[in-house]
Amino acid sequence: MIVANQKVSEHVYYSEVRCRCDRRGRRLCDGGHIRREVLDLFELIRARCSERLGRDCPVQILSGVRCRLYNILVGGASKSQHICGMALDLKTPEGIGVEEFYSICEEEVGDGGLGRYDWGAHIDVCTDPPRRRWIG
Ligand SMILES: [Zn+2]
Repeated sequence: MIVANQKVSEHVYYSEVRCRCDRRGRRLCDGGHIRREVLDLFELIRARCSERLGRDCPVQILSGVRCRLYNILVGGASKSQHICGMALDLKTPEGIGVEEFYSICEEEVGDGGLGRYDWGAHIDVCTDPPRRRWIG
């Protein structure tokens, strides 16, 4: 059992990536499992942003794992990679332009999925073909 204040990678606490539905009190959702691969990808992107700014650059995670019901509630795609803990939605950090953040993500995501939004970028590590890029 992972607790909320447990670190799941160098700069990420479980509370930042767990399912954010409100069913936890009724034990219908346990918060879900986040995949190591997407956390590794996050750390690479965060390191690139820090390198770019020449200082530590926090990157806010807007959404991580979603249980099926929560995914429906937030209007996620039915086969969303958030459901299997393979995806993160990242807010463009302070000091970095949207274009620049997107291009950093593009370089690090590789064969994974990448969506571009006005708030930032969706990244996922699903490498099933075809390679996916979209604008939301
Ligand atoms: Zn949930």
